Amino acid sequence: MEEWRRILADSVVKPQDLADRLGVDPKEIDTIVGEYPMRITPTVMRMIKEKGDAIWKQVVPDPAEIEDLDAEDDPLEEDLMSPVPHLVHRYPDRVLLMVTNQCPIYCRFCTRKRLVGKPGFLKKGELDRAIAYLREHTEVRDVILSGGDPLLLPDHLLERILKALRRIPHLELIRIGSRVPGTLPQRITPKLCEIIKRYHPIYMNLHFNHPDELTSEVKAACGMLADAGVPLGAQTVLLKGVNDDPEVMKRLMHQLLLARVKPYYLYQIRALQGHTSGMAVPHFVIDAPGGGGKIPILPPDYLVHLDEDVAVVKNYEHKTFTYPQPPNENGRPGSRELPMVGACSEPSRRACPELGRGASPTMAACGNGSLDEL
Ligand code: SF4
Repeated sequence: MEEWRRILADSVVKPQDLADRLGVDPKEIDTIVGEYPMRITPTVMRMIKEKGDAIWKQVVPDPAEIEDLDAEDDPLEEDLMSPVPHLVHRYPDRVLLMVTNQCPIYCRFCTRKRLVGKPGFLKKGELDRAIAYLREHTEVRDVILSGGDPLLLPDHLLERILKALRRIPHLELIRIGSRVPGTLPQRITPKLCEIIKRYHPIYMNLHFNHPDELTSEVKAACGMLADAGVPLGAQTVLLKGVNDDPEVMKRLMHQLLLARVKPYYLYQIRALQGHTSGMAVPHFVIDAPGGGGKIPILPPDYLVHLDEDVAVVKNYEHKTFTYPQPPNENGRPGSRELPMVGACSEPSRRACPELGRGASPTMAACGNGSLDEL
C-alpha cells in the first residue's frame, strides 16, 4: 500500500476514536456522523491544539449541523445544472466534473454534504458520458475537476481522466480543486507530480481557511506542485470563530504566498484591501444561493459616486480620489461606466457630494494599477 493510503487509513472516522483523542461525547457525535460522515487525517489531528480552536471547528462534528433544518441540501442548485451525471454546466465556457465523493477530511461547513463521504469514484461509463458531452460542447474551454477531492483518486484513475480530457481539442484548461495538500500532504508524491506534468496546463485551486494549516510539510507539498509547474490558487471560506478576524485573515494570506499559493477567492469578507500587498488580496465573492454562481462583491463605500463626468472612489484609508470619464466620440463625457485608469486630469469637483464635504480630491498615481484591483 502506498504510504499516503496508509496514512489516510489512520484517520479518525469513528466517534469513539474522536472521544479517546479529544474527549468529546461520543453519543453526541454519533448522531451527527450517522448523517454526515467524519474524517480527520493524522496531519489535521496534529493541527488541533485545543477544544474549539480554528481547526477543531472545521472538522469536529457539531450538533448545529443537524439542527439546521432550513438549510437546503443542494444550496448552489448544482443538481439542476447537471446535463449528465457528475457534470455541472453553470457558466458558458467552463464545467465542473465531480470525479469522486471522497475527501481527505469532511469539512463541517461543506456545501456538498449531500454527496461527500459516499463511496466510489466516477465509473468508466460515467466518464465516457461526460467526455461525450464535452466533445459536443465546443464552447467549453475549461474543466474543473472537483468532488469530493480529485487528488484522492488512485494515480491510474486520475491519469485516465486527464488523458481523456486532453484528447478533446477545444478544451484548453484543466483545473483541480483540492484540499489534499493542506490535509494529506503525503499524497503529493513525485509520481503524482510526474503525471500532472504530462497534461499541462493544469491549475490547482487549493482550500485553506486558517494560517495554522500552513505547516512546513504542507508548504513542502505545495512547493512540489509549484515545482511541477502547477499555478496554485487558494479558496478561503469566511468562517465564524475560524478566520473572521482581519489579523488572522492577513496572516493566512501571507502564509499562502510563502507556500507559493496565490489567494484567489475569499467568500464574503473585506478588510484586506490596501492593508497588504495586492498579491495577497483575493477576489471577494459570494456563491449565490439558488444557482447564481460566484458573484464578485466590492464594499459599497469604495465607489462613492458615479456620473457622466467622474467616478469618485475611496481607498482603504478612506481618502477620496476622482477619475474623469473619458469623452465619447462627440467630445462629451461618456456613459455611466467605470473610467479607464491612466486618463489622468484635473478632477472634476462638480456633482460630487464627497468633494463637496471637503474630502481630499488628490489624484491617485495613474497608469500602474487597475480598477480591477480594488
Ligand atoms: S474538502 Fe471540499 S468538498 Fe470535501 S468536505 Fe471539505 S469543503 Fe467539502
